[in-house]
Amino acid sequence: MTYEECFQSGKAVLERAGVQEAALDARLLLEYVCDTDRNTLLAHGEKEVLDSQAGAYESLIEKRARRIPLQHLTGVQEFMGLVFAVNEHVLIPRQDTEILVEEVLRELSDGSRILDMCTGSGCILISLLHFSNHCQGMGVDISGEALRTAEENAVRNGLFLEKAPWEEWGASWDLCGQEKAGICFLQSDLFASVKGKFEVIVSNPPYIPSAVLDTLMPEVREHEPRLALDGHEDGLYFYRKIISGSREHLTGGGRLFLEIGYDQGEAVKSLMEQKGFKDIVIVKDYGGLDRVVSGTLS
Ligand code: GLN
Repeated sequence: MTYEECFQSGKAVLERAGVQEAALDARLLLEYVCDTDRNTLLAHGEKEVLDSQAGAYESLIEKRARRIPLQHLTGVQEFMGLVFAVNEHVLIPRQDTEILVEEVLRELSDGSRILDMCTGSGCILISLLHFSNHCQGMGVDISGEALRTAEENAVRNGLFLEKAPWEEWGASWDLCGQEKAGICFLQSDLFASVKGKFEVIVSNPPYIPSAVLDTLMPEVREHEPRLALDGHEDGLYFYRKIISGSREHLTGGGRLFLEIGYDQGEAVKSLMEQKGFKDIVIVKDYGGLDRVVSGTLS
């Protein structure tokens, strides 16, 4: 079979299965199997693929047709220009979340201590440390499997992994002289095991109302961790917990940044106001939808 024949048959299978971006996914899987790129596929459509490659491609297409996410087949997702390992234990990083990272980066000072609550793959914290100077980061998640993935991602993106979580910031963890930014992960049910204070707390918590979960596309509904999606009855459960917990774990003048669902801006803003946060800003994504709320602890 040639590149072109493989691609056409893969695309047809995915279209029949109702996969949204059938052509794109068929191409990306072919690139993955043949370890090649878009230009080569386009320019050399007549090139024969090995039988082993054709077989591997067919089997991946069959999995994708069962609505297994593309990223679970290739094992990676790009975010902020970095590559992250993903699996069924973590939410696949979304492009919308780059808005959250960019908002934090706009205000981040060198040397800040950052807490990423519900870190999942670690994509937010790792990106923040990659694009800033001398900051220290702690990623918290309730899932040990997610944390193992986040650790792998930290190392793969060149960060210095501190194994034991520090008790008090600064006391046991002096990064002077370290060339790589330091990162540490802690298994905790929200703030239960967190100690110390941070200049920045950031989170993209689960925020989908439970009743809405079953209406999501099969890729999300059946293959992404419910733990990473389910925001309980009204979708606001984790915002309430994180906003009140942040009061104890932010330094004076510290800032909290939260990703939100498109219709949660006003509700989350008022939760922050009730807990004494000031300078609250709602930021939209490139689609014009509310995406981030941030505020200062006064
Ligand atoms: N912080 C991770 C992300 O934004 C995981 C978020 C989650 O599991 N809700 O991708």
